[in-house]
Amino acid sequence: MIIILRSGVTEAQIDHVIERVEELGLTAHLSRGTYRTVIGVIGEEEIIRNAPLEAIPGVAQVIPVLPAFKLASLDAHPQPSVIDVAGVKVGGGSLALIAGPCAVESHERMRDIARVIRQGGANMLRGGAFKPRTSPYSFQGLGEEGLKILREVGDEFALPVVTEVMDPRRVELVAQYADMLQIGARNMQNFVLLSEVGGTRKPVLLKRGMSSTVKDLLMSAEYILSQGNPNVILCERGVKGFDPDVRNLFDVAAVPAVKTLSHLPIIVDPSHATGRPELIPACALAGIAAGADGVHVEVHTCPEEALSDGQQALLPEQFLELAAQIRKIASVLNKKISQPEGATA
Ligand code: PEP
Ligand code: MN
Repeated sequence: MIIILRSGVTEAQIDHVIERVEELGLTAHLSRGTYRTVIGVIGEEEIIRNAPLEAIPGVAQVIPVLPAFKLASLDAHPQPSVIDVAGVKVGGGSLALIAGPCAVESHERMRDIARVIRQGGANMLRGGAFKPRTSPYSFQGLGEEGLKILREVGDEFALPVVTEVMDPRRVELVAQYADMLQIGARNMQNFVLLSEVGGTRKPVLLKRGMSSTVKDLLMSAEYILSQGNPNVILCERGVKGFDPDVRNLFDVAAVPAVKTLSHLPIIVDPSHATGRPELIPACALAGIAAGADGVHVEVHTCPEEALSDGQQALLPEQFLELAAQIRKIASVLNKKISQPEGATA
């Protein structure tokens, strides 16, 4: 930690800053420049971080040297983490291709969609059983019935399943059915929920909040990691923009930005990022080209009958074409869509 003192700071103020630092059990190294005086602080990282040093008179700025997301940071783990989702590897050259409807709607519909995505080489099946809807009058999901359908269809097609958990009280229930727990954008900073999924050892797909910075996303990942669950996959799903022509603003730079800070895999979700099928393939490919560890897209066999997010669902043929294109870009980058154990496709 480096403390930069104000210009014109008095000798008495400098002495006071050093005194406060030493009272905390830390060591202060004073360095006087021509224009500014700085104090380097060495000691227990947590004490330094929690001390309100900026409040001491004469202090202009306090600059931390280490990131606060220490477990998520490259300092903790310089190599990319590879997360195993029921036999599917994500990270370090292995790509996730997660696809499925926004919501689980029925057993038959889920089977039709799973067949298509399996044919396209997807390695995980998604579908929400608990849906975070803006309106309380919109379809809220099938609940446990939806979880059962997702599990059965995932097993039938040898695809690990991903589904959202919105409520800390339901983590245990959802974890009984899911191979990966999704934390939605609206819950990225639901710290009780993050701690609860951190208490399981299930992989967690953590979506970026729509007004959250990359560092906020990493701090939320830290909540999960700090509870002992190392299996976190980040997801860029677009942030609030100003242009009504796109649902959100796809922040593709977040992908390489995360890579400079963290070992955790990050995938992209161009479905929620753009909200428009005609924009989704290009953004999916841009994400992979930018270094993403996978793609998450919504697919439906009959979008006009979908109970949620039908307007952004890819049709089967659109998904199949996109999957083939992803494979081409992946091979250029020496990456591959890892296949679930026991699958033949
Ligand atoms: C979803 O995946 O269907 C979803 C609701 O995503 P997000 O939390 O990114 O809006
Ligand atoms: Mn959706």
